[in-house]
This record gives sequence, C-alpha cells and structure tokens, in this order.
Amino acid sequence: MAQIGFIGLGIMGKPMARNLLKAGYSLIVYDLRPGPLTELREAGATPAASCRDAAARSEIVITMLPDGPDVEIAILGPEGVLVGARQGALVVDMSSISPSVSQKLAAACAARDVDFLDAPVSGGEPKAIDGTLAIMVGGAPAAFERARPILEKMGSAVTLTGPAGAGNTTKLANQIMVACNIAAMGEALVLATRAGLDPEVVFNAVKGGLAGSTVLNVKAPMLIARNFKPGFRIELHQKDLRNALLAAESLKVSLPLTSLVQQMLMALMNEGKGHLDHSAIAQFIERMAGTEVKRKYEVAAQ
Ligand code: NAD
Repeated sequence: MAQIGFIGLGIMGKPMARNLLKAGYSLIVYDLRPGPLTELREAGATPAASCRDAAARSEIVITMLPDGPDVEIAILGPEGVLVGARQGALVVDMSSISPSVSQKLAAACAARDVDFLDAPVSGGEPKAIDGTLAIMVGGAPAAFERARPILEKMGSAVTLTGPAGAGNTTKLANQIMVACNIAAMGEALVLATRAGLDPEVVFNAVKGGLAGSTVLNVKAPMLIARNFKPGFRIELHQKDLRNALLAAESLKVSLPLTSLVQQMLMALMNEGKGHLDHSAIAQFIERMAGTEVKRKYEVAAQ
C-alpha cells in the first residue's frame, strides 16, 4: 500500500486521516497545531516536521486546509510539499479553494513531474467520520485512477468531474446550493414561528415533500435546538461564496442569490459569529424579523 502524507488535521482532516489508518494505510501527518499531531500519533500515524518532510517520506500527499493561501503556503512555500516531493509523486488537495488556485497548483506540480488532483468534499464532519463523503475530483484520468482506492476509504461517492480545477468548480456549485437552502430554511421557519406555529411541527410536516432536503434534515434540528456548534463554520462558507462570486465575475455570470447570502455571512462575521455553524445564517433573518426560531412551548413560556 502507498505511503501517504496527510497535511491539515482539523475538523475534517482528522477523521479522514483516521479512516485511512483504519483501512491499513501508513500515514505521515503534519499540522501547524501540535494537539492533533499527538492525537494522530496515538492512533498510529507518524508525525512529520513540516509539509516538506511529510512529502519527502510519502508517495501520495493529501492536503486538507482552510483556504487557497494556506494551500499555496503548504504546497509552494519554502518548507512546502514541492520542495520535498519525490519525482512521480501525487498531490491530492482536498481543501475547498478557488478553481484558479487549483489550476496554478496543478501547473506548478507538473513542472516538477508531480501529478495533482483537486478533490474537495461535501458532507461535513459526520460524513468525514463515517467515511461517506461526496468527493468531487478535477485532474487527469490516470491520476484519478491512482487516487481512487484511497479516496474511496474516505468517501462513498467519488466522481471525476473534469480537468484541474473542475473539482473545486463543482464544490462551488455545491456551496451555492447549500447556503441558499439554509437561508431559505431560515426565512421559512422565522415566518412559521412568528405566525405562532411550532417550527418542529412545521419541519416534520414538510420534510417528506418537495422542500425536503439533506440540508433541511441536518440544519433545521440544529436551528430549532439553538445548537450552532460547528460543523461547518460561517467564515469558511463566506470564503466559498467569495470564491464563487470571483469565479462568476471571471465568467461574466450574475449570481444574485449567492451575493445576498454572502453579504449575510459577512455581516455575521462582523458580529463575531464567524466561528458558529453555518446554520446560524438563520440568525441574520431572525434579527431582521425580531423573531427567534424556537419550539412553541418555549415561545409560549416567554
Ligand atoms: P479546520 O480549520 O478545522 O482545519 C484546518 C487545519 O489545517 C487546522 O488544523 C490548521 O491548523 C491546519 N493548517 C492550516 N494551515 C496549515 C499549514 N500551512 N500547514 C499545516 N497545517 C495547516 O478546517 P476544516 O473544517 O477541517 O476544513 C478544511 C477544508 O475542508 C476547508 O477548505 C473547508 O472549506 C472544507 N470543508 C469543510 C467542511 C466542514 O464541515 N468543516 C465540509 C466540507 C469541506
């Protein structure tokens, strides 16, 4: 089995790395924070001293980092993956970043005779833990076939969507649908609560109909329980919609709903809520209405 370097052991990267260990892969891990490195060492992985060191000791290097600038430092920086990478290595960036940055990374890797795939994921922490993520991949078919058995240990739907950058373009499309869906859910449940209905009853009434969705099933219970523990942070979703709007501008496409929700996310960040789960998009709508989504008996008790 290939020796794998895994860089970025946050909410997503840690359980993904654990699933590779469980599948029998030997892992060299690296993160800027010592805490997750210790946890992964206890689970059987070997900590590296830097991104460069992780790459020098691996055939395949996976990165799972917050945003494009982080990935650029980790792969192209002076202590980065490409300084240490072996000839013929494969770099798989699973972070959600701008497709144009993925294309830049693919070109830099090709110049060093290193293969590159962008392979962002959807499904959040629960599916990262279960190994059932949706993984959308951009890159050459041969590199995809090389990575596929590894990706299938972390995800249940692994799809090659096109050349370099296509994985992240698909992920931007995914993030637009998720953000607008959460905002629509917030408006719907604020209206129902203000009308005197129990939001949980409304949720149960509609979830089997056309408005039903994975987003509704996961996020409505969080909103109703006032549980905004991330999950997926507001600040990361703001980053995704910013990248979607930048891509839209370069393609001369208008995305009016995306722009609106991106402004809501920005406002929430300015209120110090960037660390909350993205289900807190509904808090923006609640404030405009002066109504909080809560169970009916709690509303009555006020
Ligand atoms: P996170 O902030 O929890 O984890 C990122 C990790 O990267 C941290 O441990 C950090 O210390 C480390 N890091 C940052 N820069 C580094 C560097 N230069 N070298 C080594 N380590 C470095 O983020 P996350 O929630 O795990 O998300 C990771 C990516 O996955 C993001 O692009 C995010 O948009 C995407 N994503 C997240 C979710 C989710 O539900 N959390 C779902 C789908 C996709």
